[in-house]
Amino acid sequence: MRPAGGGRLTAGRRGPAYSRPAPAGGGVPGGAVGVEADAIREGAGQVGPDPTAGQAAIFFSSHARSVTLLVRGESLAESMSHYLIEQIATKANIRVETRSEVVAVHGDEQLEAIEVIDRKTGTTTRRDARALFVLIGAQAATDWLPPEISRDEHGFVLTGTDAMKAGQWNADREPFALETSAPGIFAVGDIRSGSVKRVAASVGEGGVAIALVHRYLQLSSQP
Ligand SMILES: Cc1cc2nc3c(=O)[nH]c(=O)nc-3n(C[C@H](O)[C@H](O)[C@H](O)COP(=O)(O)OP(=O)(O)OC[C@H]3O[C@@H](n4cnc5c(N)ncnc54)[C@H](O)[C@@H]3O)c2cc1C
Repeated sequence: MRPAGGGRLTAGRRGPAYSRPAPAGGGVPGGAVGVEADAIREGAGQVGPDPTAGQAAIFFSSHARSVTLLVRGESLAESMSHYLIEQIATKANIRVETRSEVVAVHGDEQLEAIEVIDRKTGTTTRRDARALFVLIGAQAATDWLPPEISRDEHGFVLTGTDAMKAGQWNADREPFALETSAPGIFAVGDIRSGSVKRVAASVGEGGVAIALVHRYLQLSSQP
């Protein structure tokens, strides 16, 4: 995704990597709750075919004049349950566009338009949009970690009893709650397997990890 309008919009890859457009004044929320629904009476674009995206589209269809679901794949069936697809089909104001991808977002203080490429034809169109909901999941970018740090099947770092169960734990004590399979190395936030994936939770885990590091250092300094 490219920033439009002089680099005011950003997209990035991070620990857990997202494509994340972020206009300064908002318009691209990460969640899909009531307060956001109130803000988008005119119309909403939505990216992402995961089950949450289906539920969000149905929810927003009761609030917004129109909801467009943009799906990169061939069909919703690749990643969404049958019952959700059926429910979406009954909603006259939800439009599903497959093989479509958002390639740019435009806006000054607020999101104003998105550019969407049609992968079937290669044509890019610019569309007015007041809100864009990104529901594309996350990928753990943890390939660079050494094998001593166990990860789950999606690449997120295992901690605590999950790390011990992974079979690589070699200390004669149980791991601390946020400790990885490598004694003395801790993981917090989105990258941690099973974490809540919210700011407050990540910050809280960071605080707890500091206390655990102190306990680890205390243990290590005991004769
Ligand atoms: C579009 C979107 C909207 C969201 N909205 C909300 C919201 O409204 N409320 C909410 O609570 N949560 C929201 N979230 C989730 C929230 O952003 C995350 O839960 C939170 O940022 C996780 O914090 P973190 O420190 O674990 O990871 P991050 O914030 O991802 O920080 C990880 C940092 O590590 C850096 N990094 C990665 N790899 C390396 C490396 N190898 N070396 C050095 N640095 C590295 C990255 O660049 C990044 O700065 C949203 C997420 C998205 C994608």
